[in-house]
Amino acid sequence: MTDYQAVLDRVIDHIEALRFQGKVANYIPALAEQPLGQFSIAIQTTDGQSYYAGDMSARFTVQSVSKVMTLTMALQRYGDELWQRVGKEPSGTAFNSLTQLEFENGVPRNPFINAGAIVTCDALYSRLGAPIHTMLEHYRAQSGNDKVKINKRVAQSEFEHRYRNAAMAYLMKSFGNFNNEVEEVLWSYFNYCAIELDSLELAKTFSYLSNQGYCQQSKQQLLSAKQTKQLNSLLFTSGLYDAAGDFAYRVGMPGKSGVSGAIIAVLPNEFTVAVCSPGLDKVGNSVAGIAALEFLSEELGTAIF
Ligand code: GLN
Repeated sequence: MTDYQAVLDRVIDHIEALRFQGKVANYIPALAEQPLGQFSIAIQTTDGQSYYAGDMSARFTVQSVSKVMTLTMALQRYGDELWQRVGKEPSGTAFNSLTQLEFENGVPRNPFINAGAIVTCDALYSRLGAPIHTMLEHYRAQSGNDKVKINKRVAQSEFEHRYRNAAMAYLMKSFGNFNNEVEEVLWSYFNYCAIELDSLELAKTFSYLSNQGYCQQSKQQLLSAKQTKQLNSLLFTSGLYDAAGDFAYRVGMPGKSGVSGAIIAVLPNEFTVAVCSPGLDKVGNSVAGIAALEFLSEELGTAIF
């Protein structure tokens, strides 16, 4: 049997020199307060075991990792119809790029860049009575912690600095690919990004991705096995924005990152791993987080290939 705990303990030694590298995101003022150097990692296996190492008292906002949950909930309600409004191709541009929307009639390249997540939020908004509350309840049930909260200061700070995301939403609206009030949908999007977890809660929340769509904490079949395979495939090609190829090369697993320094990665039928360390590289991905996942996949000798 794999000794996951021993491997995670070795991860901590491995990243020691890296955790102060990179820069904390500062384009959202409330995010800039996260301490550089923080690091935690957790594994939730499909047979229900949890392993973790590092600073487990650290709580962080999920940021773009929320895009995976948004997509999951939209796929539950729309199935393949959703792909009329958002594409499945890698973007090759930054997560907050606007340019591609203009040339492709307001249809974002994929659901993991900001424009794609925002249009997915719009679709979800049309079907959810209380979008923010419903989303929060999912995180509470799936993480196994019914006290999970939204960091309101981060949500508010993002809303106050929303201009670029608002520009994307209005541009999509001009092309007829947006159905609700832009400001209301953005408010829900920022609240989703500002949900606060620790690493183990994050691994548990997304454990369904390694478990054929079934979440053991909430006891829900969130997606079918086929949809889970499809979602993991999209994460592999697009989960790390314009660094998806580099991540695939180094780590060999589907993954999703966020500007808080959070990253999840999935080894189907084995485990979901979550890591958080706020120092980001130029693309907006955690330096120590990627190094930790690369080391983990080498140590375990496991990748999807
Ligand atoms: N809330 C962030 C934004 O909209 C999420 C971006 C990210 O994590 N890459 O800019």
